[in-house]
Amino acid sequence: MVLLDGKSLAKEKREEVKKKVEDLKEREKIVPGLAIIRVGNDPASEIYVRNKLKACEEVKIHAIEKHFDESISEQELIDCIEYFNKEETIDGILVQSPLPKNFDEQKIISHILGSKDVDGFGIDNLGHLLANQEQVLAATPLGIIHLLEKYEIPIASKNVVVIGRSKIVGRPLAIMFLNRDATVTIAHSKTKNLKEITLQADILVSAVGRPNFITQDMVKEGAVCIDVGINRINNQVVGDMDFNAIKEKASFITPVPGGVGPMTIATLLENVYQLALKRKKEK
Ligand code: NAD
Repeated sequence: MVLLDGKSLAKEKREEVKKKVEDLKEREKIVPGLAIIRVGNDPASEIYVRNKLKACEEVKIHAIEKHFDESISEQELIDCIEYFNKEETIDGILVQSPLPKNFDEQKIISHILGSKDVDGFGIDNLGHLLANQEQVLAATPLGIIHLLEKYEIPIASKNVVVIGRSKIVGRPLAIMFLNRDATVTIAHSKTKNLKEITLQADILVSAVGRPNFITQDMVKEGAVCIDVGINRINNQVVGDMDFNAIKEKASFITPVPGGVGPMTIATLLENVYQLALKRKKEK
């Protein structure tokens, strides 16, 4: 079994981005800029945003956070997005998910210019993904693809099973696998006979959010196992997979923590850089 070491690859990626950012600044006088909009006081979102800001600072990406109280109106939020759409120093805009329940998240996100939609969650970028004309891709799924590429794990013609159909992980990831010529099955909460399906997987991805959801008997001998889940039990972070048992059967497996998680932020930084590079080309 080989451990898919997302932590090391993410470190490598961050160092690469840092060099590219310095180079862009020196040659073109452009500093990539990221605007993060957060609404309300969800404690997990607060930590995620803090980590994103810290990562940007490390690689010298200019990042700002705009934090609003839950009582902000939809129009005020849209006005803020429109402001960043026009702001020249900002290349990427992201609205930290989840928004408080009274907001229609997809509607809000649809106001971000496609060329600044750094999370790739807008209809424009999702449409391009579906049409196999990938532009800005969501950070978590793209980070997973980079991890597989790094370890030279082939995707084409493989049976890939993605469990979870969320807009941020399962759905875009499944299409990315399809665009890379895999045979893809998407399983979700209404799927029947899950074990029969997972046993077919050459590459098995779990993005459910339940500890020990994937047990060893659900995994084919030699499968590549990607665990996206982040679950907290007694102050410990674990994934969806029964790691210790499954590692005996898998050919490759991501640890949690240290697998998919660190790749997400590194990929976000790369996305901001790529958008800044486009700004330079359009100048
Ligand atoms: P979500 O709650 O939006 O989606 C969960 C998915 O699991 C749903 O599509 C649902 O259909 C599916 N599901 C639920 N019960 C199921 C069952 N019995 N059988 C099959 N499928 C079932 O969650 P999400 O936002 O996609 O996140 C999933 C997990 O990944 C969470 O633990 C989250 O914290 C984690 N996550 C990690 C990263 C990272 O960077 N590592 C990024 C995003 C999300």
